Amino acid sequence: MFDKKTIEDIDVKRKKVLVRVDYNVPLDDSLNVTDDTRIKLSLPTLKYLIKNEAKIILISHLGRPKGKVEEKFRLTPAVRELEKLLNKNVKKFDEIFSSEIKEYIDNEMDYTDIVMIENLRFDPGEKSNDRDLARSLASLADIYVNDAFGAAHRSHASVVGVTQFLPAVAGFLMKREVEILVSLLELPERPFVAILGGSKVSDKLVVIKNLLDKVDTLILGGGMSYTFLKAKGYEIGESICEDDQIGYAKDMLELAKKNNVNFVLPVDITVAREFDRNADKKIVNIDSIPAGWHGLDIGEKSIGLFEKEIAGAGTIFWNGPVGVFEWERFEEGTKSIARAISDSSAVTVAGGGDTISAIKKYNLSNKFSHISSGGGASMELLEGKVLPGVASLMDK
Ligand code: AMP
Repeated sequence: MFDKKTIEDIDVKRKKVLVRVDYNVPLDDSLNVTDDTRIKLSLPTLKYLIKNEAKIILISHLGRPKGKVEEKFRLTPAVRELEKLLNKNVKKFDEIFSSEIKEYIDNEMDYTDIVMIENLRFDPGEKSNDRDLARSLASLADIYVNDAFGAAHRSHASVVGVTQFLPAVAGFLMKREVEILVSLLELPERPFVAILGGSKVSDKLVVIKNLLDKVDTLILGGGMSYTFLKAKGYEIGESICEDDQIGYAKDMLELAKKNNVNFVLPVDITVAREFDRNADKKIVNIDSIPAGWHGLDIGEKSIGLFEKEIAGAGTIFWNGPVGVFEWERFEEGTKSIARAISDSSAVTVAGGGDTISAIKKYNLSNKFSHISSGGGASMELLEGKVLPGVASLMDK
């Protein structure tokens, strides 16, 4: 099923191993890591390499520095978290490549030790997949392991370029993510129900189309559903809408009919007088959204309808909140859907930054079969695209 070599298919014993991790973690204003999930997810691969007495050289990006050094994007806070999780010192270099780093790894570093080099995006060559940067990174090691599923959709130097110079294999997280998401598409327990929300249709054009070939039921909620409701002829007041996507929405409603997919949209809406966390609110049927009001959550009947579909599912994929869940007055829909999914005995998979925040907010993280660490990468897989960071690894 996963047809790429992994660290278990190559001899890493007492080798120098360059590991691409995804430590693109959120930091607060004092540069503390506010969520260490991504660091924790890298531990199985790191522990395996420690057990095999490898020298471990970690590489990652963090945030969006524009190809130059920005203090707030240094990887130092992530390294400090890793040290706590492993109860082990990790040496951090403040640059990406230098002869001193290479010298240290070759001559001073012990086997089982870990070093981390600086945020790769401080160098413009990372994003442009610069061959020299890739070659320099590769020169530090004997083997390359990609465990950064969250970056697997990027053709960057540390993801794709480096594989031209070193034997390249997948880490445990990369393998698990790809296996689970591909099995959703290839062999889902039926009925397969997908729930998509979030603010924009335009972010999910390809995924909606591809899912309409795979799922039995597609539920749409949140900001993006208003473009579909408008396409069906409803008045949507001041709710967010992408008028240039109405034609696309009509096409998707047609495609659903043709493919015999049950396309479920909200039947009632929690509307607010203003786009404000404390706004006056009321629940109205979908054909009664008052002019000037904003749809900010699904209503009770929609919650019941969505819950019924969720309860009958064999597989559930969820991406995107169905309302402005960050505001307490408009969180009921997202909270109820998150709970319904976590109560279901189906295979449940969720992905996307806001979706994961919602799952964490309601303390449901351990009730999902799988929460994907890569929002963009998981979407691209579900769009049917080949991920360059996976394609470039060695075949089994
Ligand atoms: P996205 O970034 O596209 O995944 O969308 C996530 C955001 O969509 C969240 O921050 C939600 O607050 C927002 N959202 C969900 N429903 C609505 C809505 N009805 N109107 C405006 N924003 C919404």
